[in-house]
Amino acid sequence: MTDFAATKALFHLPEGVIYLDGNSLGPLPRAASDRLRRTVEDEWGDMLITGWNRAGWMEMPRRLGDRIGRLIGAEPGSVVLGDTLSIKVYQALAAALEMRPDRRVILSDSGNFPSDLYMAQGLVGLLGDGYRLRTVAPEAVADALSDEIAVLMLTEVDYRTGRKHDMAALTAAAHEKGIVTVWDLAHSAGALPVDLAGTRADFAVGCTYKYLNAGPGGPAFIYVAPRHAQTARPALSGWLGHEAPFAFDADYRPAEGVERMRVGTPPILQLAALDASLEIWDQVDMNALRARSIALCDQFIAGVEARCPALEIASPRDGARRGSQVSFAFEQGYAAMQACIAKGLIGDFRAPDIMRFGFTPLYIDQSDVARAVEIIAEVMHDELWRDPAYQKRAAVT
Ligand SMILES: *Cc1c(COP(=O)(O)O)cnc(C)c1O
Repeated sequence: MTDFAATKALFHLPEGVIYLDGNSLGPLPRAASDRLRRTVEDEWGDMLITGWNRAGWMEMPRRLGDRIGRLIGAEPGSVVLGDTLSIKVYQALAAALEMRPDRRVILSDSGNFPSDLYMAQGLVGLLGDGYRLRTVAPEAVADALSDEIAVLMLTEVDYRTGRKHDMAALTAAAHEKGIVTVWDLAHSAGALPVDLAGTRADFAVGCTYKYLNAGPGGPAFIYVAPRHAQTARPALSGWLGHEAPFAFDADYRPAEGVERMRVGTPPILQLAALDASLEIWDQVDMNALRARSIALCDQFIAGVEARCPALEIASPRDGARRGSQVSFAFEQGYAAMQACIAKGLIGDFRAPDIMRFGFTPLYIDQSDVARAVEIIAEVMHDELWRDPAYQKRAAVT
């Protein structure tokens, strides 16, 4: 069992702040500062370029990929880190499309994160030749599976509402129609148990700066099912995905397995921060985390609904159909969230009207949830969102 009081002590959380935005940017693991200092001073500073060999920098994308693999039910050696999530979506999608050369349609849902849809639009534009992206409502995905579809590209947990797709059922239904699946785990990895091997997902991608707490700009990960790893073609064929990068061959030959999905030089400082964060994750039982996450979300929903009739729930009430976040719709949601932040409760806002709160059992407990409900109730009861200072939109919401 995981001791969540012990994990909470491993994070730096500013005094007086309740942080319900770890689904967007995880907080600083205390050990990360020291780990980064050592990487900067002892490795970069003293080893200089020899750090690539002596400090094991070159293996970090694979080594840390395996540790994330445990959290998402991936087979050893099937996950590698690098680049940003948008880039990894593109790579996975391109590789998946190539596996069905006789089909032209990518199916996604209208709740998917815009960048995933944009990457698909860019790719089909480049390919031409009748390739297209089709989006349907999240509830309509199962019925839209047909033998015209090459790839089903979905984000398991909706970034706005927290609605969770049934990954096992949709993957099985897609496979029945010969469709290749690409799952985005941005709001799943570190939020709930995922079983990539068990569900027979083909490709998956996700990020490390949200629930996995690797810090702003932490690299993304990509999973390729072992049965595809020797044939999948990485559209972004960089030198570090080459079979022998230091042969400096003029012709590209893909590396063994998932290594071929590497592109260029890995971000070692970010990986060092992730390494420190994974020291915590290595001890976490994902089923215990899930149970606690659902309990915290349920407590929050009950509290807010009892106190704030103007807020309309925008997430599934059933914990089993939800990720680890709760959203409420409110017309003045942006200003109301600014008022919450001024009172020490940090969540975020997603246009057009969603107030979003992430629940992260590693460092959020029942007393935090109770206090968060109090603050929201004050903001709503006293209509603090009317203050003009809270209306002005910042670049990041
Ligand atoms: C957060 C998020 C992204 C962000 O992509 P980056 O390239 O890391 O900026 C993409 N897709 C989904 C589903 C996300 O939740």
